[in-house]
Amino acid sequence: MLYMWLFLAGSKGYQERLGYVVTTCPDCGVRDLFTVEQERKKFTIYMVPTFQYSKKQYMVCPNCREVFEVAEEIKAELHSKLISQEQLSEAIKKGRLDKLLQKGSRIGKRK
Ligand SMILES: [Zn+2]
Repeated sequence: MLYMWLFLAGSKGYQERLGYVVTTCPDCGVRDLFTVEQERKKFTIYMVPTFQYSKKQYMVCPNCREVFEVAEEIKAELHSKLISQEQLSEAIKKGRLDKLLQKGSRIGKRK
């Protein structure tokens, strides 16, 4: 019985892009436009997704490709600075990408 359960149950991950944020990479020190992604994991039975058991957000450095998990306490701060795909396209179109990069600030505080 237990064997059957293990065989039929699994998990499925869903990835979605939330937007972009300007910050300085703690790893390589480069200030750039990070992509912010969310991964949700759902429990599956017979390959059918059921309930969600995990929701994590990540920031990816475009320079060194390092992936940072967004801590619970900085999520609100991060989301207030989030740049949407439309805003980014608009900034590029108007040649304001440099301004966008200057405007952002470091997210979270070092202890
Ligand atoms: Zn980096």
